[in-house]
Amino acid sequence: MRRITVFGATGSVGQSALDLVARDLASYDVVALTGGRNVAQLAHDARRLNADMAVTCYPECYSELKDLLADTDVEVAAGPDAITQAAARPVDWALSAIVGAAGLVPGLEALSHGTTLALANKESLVTAGPLMLGRAKAHGATVLPVDSEHSAVFQALVGEHMAAVERVIITASGGAFRDWPIEKLAKATLAQASSHPNWDMGRRITIDSASMFNKGMELIETKEFFNVSPDMIEVLVHRESLVHALVGFNDGALMAHVGPPDMRHAIGYALHWPERQHLPVERLDLAKIGSLTFEAPDDARYPALGIAKRVMREGGLSGAVFNAAKERALDGFIAGEIGFLDMSRVVDRTLDKMSSGAGVQSAAMTIDNVLETDRLARIYAAEAFEQLG
Ligand code: NAD
Ligand code: MG
Repeated sequence: MRRITVFGATGSVGQSALDLVARDLASYDVVALTGGRNVAQLAHDARRLNADMAVTCYPECYSELKDLLADTDVEVAAGPDAITQAAARPVDWALSAIVGAAGLVPGLEALSHGTTLALANKESLVTAGPLMLGRAKAHGATVLPVDSEHSAVFQALVGEHMAAVERVIITASGGAFRDWPIEKLAKATLAQASSHPNWDMGRRITIDSASMFNKGMELIETKEFFNVSPDMIEVLVHRESLVHALVGFNDGALMAHVGPPDMRHAIGYALHWPERQHLPVERLDLAKIGSLTFEAPDDARYPALGIAKRVMREGGLSGAVFNAAKERALDGFIAGEIGFLDMSRVVDRTLDKMSSGAGVQSAAMTIDNVLETDRLARIYAAEAFEQLG
């Protein structure tokens, strides 16, 4: 039996993972499941999967979760520190599927115990890639990509030498507004930004897909995870979301990863790695699909891509600034404080402000510096709301 923990178990990725685990319960010993306000879901899953422990990140949700599990021997805990403590429990495999920078500390903790960490939480690589991967190396831990594009690249690289790689191409659906006239984007509403043409995901990543901040984050994630230079990484708009990524080699070959838009593939690949096992995902009928389309992204429509390229060039803690400012701007858009296009303006201004003064590019990447940079960037991003006019 493999001991496993799922961070962010109640979310979109977490639920897809539990679907796979529930189909083969005899193979897994579930150590901890973590979630947020959705305690009913968390309690339900802890019960059906016979977890040792259920943790909500919100202390105010503790008693509700405790009551729901009163007749079981599931241990209950609450708060960010309790999640980090859960990460210290030894497991063979953990999934990091918390949304946002809140995933960083539990992920680091899990790596410190030599765990194999399947990483859906792209924010931890964007914010502190070298810290994450350095921690893994120091403790003999393994990080496996779960973001679909990065899983695809990882799979295309099996048996290959990085020295032969010329380019890495990640695809993007184009998000909710790919066919909108650019002039209308400023007025895009929360409801309009919250629906994705191809993928069923959490609300924050869905809005980030409409703005392409998600793809911007994935550019940085690619650079960090695969240690390739920024000029080797490309984004290709591919409306069908069936080719997830391509790797170009020095003999001109492109290895493409093709599969249905279902996160259970990338999660399952990480769960069974280094082997492949049967997964309950759709088998594509390419004759029926007929054609696949590709186009270059329009930089004017998606300023987030340009901002991400700047962050890749600047390096250091600029990823932490970028991610925190983006999270704060997204909070502002969700709360109706700023418009859709204001999100990229806020992130741009926060980067301008912080890379000029605070030694963002030269400061050491320690957890304290990362968390302090994250804290300041959220303050400066909120200040930038006032200056939008
Ligand atoms: P989601 O919003 O559906 O779920 C987020 C999970 O994190 C929930 O369990 C929630 O309770 C928990 N959570 C939220 N705030 C927290 C906090 N402060 N502390 C601890 N836990 C907290 O999100 P999702 O769509 O499943 O995405 C999860 C991560 O995976 C994100 O980093 C996202 O970018 C990445 N990802 C998602 C998909 C997808 O298909 N949904 C694909 C690729 C990558
Ligand atoms: Mg992705």
